[in-house]
Amino acid sequence: MGLSIKSIWNYKCPKCRKGDLFIKPFLFSKPLDMPKYCAVCGQDFEPEPGYYYGAMFLSYIVFTTIMLPLALLMVFYFKWSVNASMGIVIAISIICFFKILRGARALWIHIMIKYDPKVIKH
Ligand SMILES: [Zn+2]
Repeated sequence: MGLSIKSIWNYKCPKCRKGDLFIKPFLFSKPLDMPKYCAVCGQDFEPEPGYYYGAMFLSYIVFTTIMLPLALLMVFYFKWSVNASMGIVIAISIICFFKILRGARALWIHIMIKYDPKVIKH
């Protein structure tokens, strides 16, 4: 059973793929608030302190992978100035920031915890 892109994209629990990884509705003051446990299957969303340090590293990689080619494209292909390109990249970064941060956490927990369809049967 591989990774489910859909569950990661929708921030679903890695184990049952039904429960939500983040508290709804989205609040800008608490962008990364997660319930302690999955409401559907009871999966612990933070098995140990600092569980998401790896996710921070992961979001940095994802971020660089998206933003760096974008900046280079604008400078070398569209002949924009470096300052203008940086401005655009920073603007996009702010918009995508929480999306990437949450996405990295979702991806992280999906890598760590395997899907188990049996958990929702009882
Ligand atoms: Zn669950």
